[in-house]
Amino acid sequence: RFITFEGIDGAGKSTHIAALTERLSARGAVVVNTREPGGTELAETLRGLFLHSGMDSLTEALLVFAGRRDHLQRVIEPALAAGQTVVCDRYTDASFAYQGAGRGMDLAVLTTLEQWVQNGRQPDLTLWFDLPAEMAAARRAAAREADRFEQQDLEFFERVRAGYAARAAGAPQRFARIDASVSVAEVAAQISAVMESRGW
Ligand code: C5P
Repeated sequence: RFITFEGIDGAGKSTHIAALTERLSARGAVVVNTREPGGTELAETLRGLFLHSGMDSLTEALLVFAGRRDHLQRVIEPALAAGQTVVCDRYTDASFAYQGAGRGMDLAVLTTLEQWVQNGRQPDLTLWFDLPAEMAAARRAAAREADRFEQQDLEFFERVRAGYAARAAGAPQRFARIDASVSVAEVAAQISAVMESRGW
């Protein structure tokens, strides 16, 4: 199984990625925890370039998709072929949300890159952490060091959020919307309900 977590910065994914990994491991799954942008040595190098230098949205997308190709070939596909469970913090929905909806890149080009790079590999389940941009910004301010993207304005993150909503509408069986505006315990309960509804 291939499970991805998505949502704007400050949505609170990390805590729940750890909890879901524990839950699945306790049920006997071998879980591979990974992330994008990144997930292999090469893709992490590309991530460093992507995070710390200015570039246009097409260049961003090409770096992220190049890393994704390497990540798929070296980590994701082999793990799935071995019957393992892959839990990935961000995947292609983030490209559509950030480079597409957030930065205005042509969605048709992203769709082409998606087809070229992934050979149809889509997650079995995407847990989309949805919350207002303002609330996410407050959480980011309370938490960690900001990279160049986390200083973007609320309008940017509302566009990204809308980008996720559009992707979710286009793949309703794959997406589970999680109301991420509530407490950690309440988010955990929503995730449990999603997993139980799938018998996972
Ligand atoms: O999720 P993570 O914090 O690892 O992402 C690093 C940064 O890259 C975040 O600020 C996120 O907003 C940004 N990002 C992006 N486009 C993507 C994926 C992540 O701008 N496709």
